[in-house]
Amino acid sequence: MECSCQRTTHILFEADFADPVWCADCKWNLDLDDLPVSETLKRNIESWAEGYGGWQDWEGEKLISDAVKIEEDFNNAGRLLFVLLQQELPGFTISYKPSRLSSMYK
Ligand SMILES: [Zn+2]
Repeated sequence: MECSCQRTTHILFEADFADPVWCADCKWNLDLDDLPVSETLKRNIESWAEGYGGWQDWEGEKLISDAVKIEEDFNNAGRLLFVLLQQELPGFTISYKPSRLSSMYK
């Protein structure tokens, strides 16, 4: 996989406004399409990542009601995908970093 330190086997799985896969060593944003995983898993990860930040009211720069619960559900779904990802990539070391957006408003 392409990243600045080349051929990483250490992936960070963290949702952001980009593909949610990063090289854990050089913090390069990896292309989800480059991962040697099933199309089903890719699509599931894509649709999950699209929900990132859905608990924030960007206009008013505040949280919508139930934001903490929504983020929690999002993080639980992410943890499940992370387990599936690790199963499909046994040669990689994968870390999962849950979203903590709502805690920035406390
Ligand atoms: Zn790297």
